[in-house]
Amino acid sequence: MDRTFLMVKPDGVQRGLIGRIISRLEDKGFKLVAGKLVQMTQEQAKRHYAEHEGKPFFDDLVRFITSGPVFAMVWEGDDIVALARIVIGKTNVKEAAPGTIRGDFASHTPHNLIHGADSPESATREAANFFSPDELVSYEKSIAAWL
Ligand code: GDP
Ligand code: MG
Repeated sequence: MDRTFLMVKPDGVQRGLIGRIISRLEDKGFKLVAGKLVQMTQEQAKRHYAEHEGKPFFDDLVRFITSGPVFAMVWEGDDIVALARIVIGKTNVKEAAPGTIRGDFASHTPHNLIHGADSPESATREAANFFSPDELVSYEKSIAAWL
């Protein structure tokens, strides 16, 4: 079973979309293994977006992601890193298809509501920026055989 790191960004929290975003991830058949509301520090934000350091939008991105609380989560499922990014939709809201979270709820890039790790390695690194290992809960769901 694979895991990914997902995070409702400050725009999603402010707009009251945490519940509906979680519902979509549950509807897809993913399993929640950790979640918490966090006001990110500058340092934590820079670690999270380290791959974008040096890009023209980096400072704006750090300002945006620290502008209010985020809802950080770890989810589990087969091939979940790639599948979650399909459920989330494209980065640019003009390209995000209807039926995706960004396609249905986001209207202005870069306020695209949710972050999703782009590889299993990123997922592990990003999750460790928010959660200690004992905060990731392993449990079985009886529905698993029917997915
Ligand atoms: P993601 O993995 O789909 O979230 O996209 P990226 O990793 O490429 O970018 C991270 C986040 O930075 C995006 O989700 C946007 O919120 C923001 N972002 C990306 N490109 C730009 C840009 O050109 N300008 C600004 N201001 N923000 C951007
Ligand atoms: Mg990314």
